[in-house]
Amino acid sequence: MRAGFPEFRLGSVLATSFTATLTERQGDPVERIPVPQRLVDWLAVNGLAVDSCTTAQLERARELRESIHLAATAAALKEPLPGPAVQVINDRSAEGRAAAILTPDGEREWRLSPSSSVEDALGVIAADAIGILAGERDGRLALCASPTCRAAFFDTSQSRTRKWCEMNTCGNRQKKARFNASQRKRPRPEE
Ligand SMILES: [Zn+2]
Repeated sequence: MRAGFPEFRLGSVLATSFTATLTERQGDPVERIPVPQRLVDWLAVNGLAVDSCTTAQLERARELRESIHLAATAAALKEPLPGPAVQVINDRSAEGRAAAILTPDGEREWRLSPSSSVEDALGVIAADAIGILAGERDGRLALCASPTCRAAFFDTSQSRTRKWCEMNTCGNRQKKARFNASQRKRPRPEE
């Protein structure tokens, strides 16, 4: 982690890990990629290393992020997908020219072209979002139960009953809030 910047929230699903670079959307939002270098850092952590990023590229990345968030939220609510958001996702997907590479160890790596690596990385993220939105992957899109969060996340639990985008943050906070509320209701011995 670089000093002074909010930490990343990393999940196992690329598209929703990306939308989680803005958290507490319904409360006090926390921007986790506030400067181009932080997008470079985030991409590196997610197997999409790029050399550099401009302010314009960061803006395009955020536009894609918010489009994925809108589309995933609509999908979770079983509402029609918003046309402009779908357009952005499709455009970024079409622009990307990343190649999937199979390593000798049998793992997949993304090879980005040196001249357009941020665009290629965004293409990989957009394609990942399309896979989820199209229902191709085993799981369910849902919204976090935390009222200050409401992040769209991809539930791959067997029971498909996950309530929070992340147990360590939203889940624990909700539990603590409920515990505190129940403590307050109980009269103290000295009262
Ligand atoms: Zn949450």
